[in-house]
This record gives sequence, structure tokens and C-alpha cells, in this order.
Amino acid sequence: MYTQIQPACEFCSNALETRDHLFFACQWSRTVLEAVCDWCCLDNWHYRFDNWCRWLKFSFQDKGRRQFIYAAMAATTYHIWMERNRRIFRHASLRPDQVFVLIKRELALRISLYVPNFVNWSNRVMVHRILTAI
Ligand SMILES: [Zn+2]
Repeated sequence: MYTQIQPACEFCSNALETRDHLFFACQWSRTVLEAVCDWCCLDNWHYRFDNWCRWLKFSFQDKGRRQFIYAAMAATTYHIWMERNRRIFRHASLRPDQVFVLIKRELALRISLYVPNFVNWSNRVMVHRILTAI
């Protein structure tokens, strides 16, 4: 018989590694999320997966802004997951501010590749800020 063991969080060791804890509730991840949130000029950030999905779906009327926030969310979850794996498989770690730099670099690269399709007047200032802040 196979028994699945839920491991402890790699970041804090104080909770089980669930989706909501790893990406939303863990203090280590929250530090990264709050940095991304500030950088994206977001007033609020949801700390539960179901609220996050609802918020993403209904909160952004501007297509360019919505695409940027989706890319920011994808990069944030990807880099949190990669940091978790770095700790498990490579026995190395980065600080939240170092992971935040990786997220900013990835978003700047994505935006620079898609600027002709991405930039409109409503998000031109935001794009300039992102591309010059790295
Ligand atoms: Zn944790």
C-alpha cells in the first residue's frame, strides 16, 4: 500500500506544503508577492488561490494591463516553485529579494519581446517603468 506524505514547507518548515500555503500564505512567499505587488502598482493581492483566480478574471478591464498582471502572476508562481525545487534538489537558496529580481528580469524580457503588441496609451508609462527599473 502506498502512503503519500505531505512534506513540510521548504521555506518556513512551519506548515504543510499545500498550494495555498506555498504560493499564498507562507511568509517567505508573501515577501516576494508583496514586492511584485508594489512593483506592479497593485493595491491589493489575494492570498488564497480561489480569490486570486476570481480577482484576475474580473479586475482588469484594460487588455494590456490584464496581460501584464497575468504574466507577473505566472512569473511569480514559477520562480517561487523554482526556488522550492532549488532548495530540495540543489541544497541552495535565494532570498526573496533575489527571487524578485529574477521575476523582474523575466517580465522585462517578455515585455521587450512583445512591446509592439503590448503597448497602448493606457499602459505606456507602466511598460517604460518596468523596462527601465531592472
Ligand atoms: Zn511556509
